[in-house]
Amino acid sequence: MGIAVGIVPCLSDNYSYLMRVPGTDRAVVVDASEAAPVRAALREHGLTLAAILATHHHEDHVGGNLELLKEFPNAQVFGFETDAGRLPGLTRGVKDGERFALEGLEVKAMHIPGHTLGAVAYLVDDAVFTGDTLFVAGCGRLFEGTPAQMYDSINTRLGGLADATRVYCGHEYTAKNLEFAAALEPSNQAVRDKSERVRALLARGEPTVPSTIGEERETNPFLRVEKPEILAKVAEDLSGDRSTASLFGAVRRAKDRFR
Ligand code: ZN
Ligand code: FE
Repeated sequence: MGIAVGIVPCLSDNYSYLMRVPGTDRAVVVDASEAAPVRAALREHGLTLAAILATHHHEDHVGGNLELLKEFPNAQVFGFETDAGRLPGLTRGVKDGERFALEGLEVKAMHIPGHTLGAVAYLVDDAVFTGDTLFVAGCGRLFEGTPAQMYDSINTRLGGLADATRVYCGHEYTAKNLEFAAALEPSNQAVRDKSERVRALLARGEPTVPSTIGEERETNPFLRVEKPEILAKVAEDLSGDRSTASLFGAVRRAKDRFR
């Protein structure tokens, strides 16, 4: 059993995550999207906010930071070091690959640029928090980085984690992502099976997180850009360059055009 992760729905489709430091009444929050639901979750469990781990600077991931800091002025706020100027309340910049002890938790920061240049994932025990870089069955838009950076972040860095690693992402986009995955790779049975499981979860009002790295390898087109069926679908958009980065860029552009 890995660390218990509480899921806190925020805004229209964001997730904040809450981890109690074992044996204490202190909590670490990943991406405080907005203050009220996070505060309510802390109160419900009688927890004090010890730290916020920010995956990237977008407002829908850090919008609650300053308000929560008013109530918990001693809480630390972690984020990627180069984003110090745009992460509200940042107290501690982290480096790529840095491991640090946070209260009683062992955390590893992984720089995963692409969606933004300062995007960072946090690996805590067997759970990885991927923000808007890796979604369940999808990935974030390339607002600041290149396809090559995003390919590397998702396939080499996050994709290098163990299959059993639990994936907690920043948004509930899974149903739409799976529609795109099915359109791109209609013969993929794992996509069909996952779509059914996801429909059942959503029908019960339950989140589709966590996924696992192993499931993402089987279902997420952005971890499968070299599969023949996918390659054939985006071939005309490749202009001769069949590098993995170019393929990744073509799949991302296809997703941008998808309804
Ligand atoms: Zn974002
Ligand atoms: Fe977002």
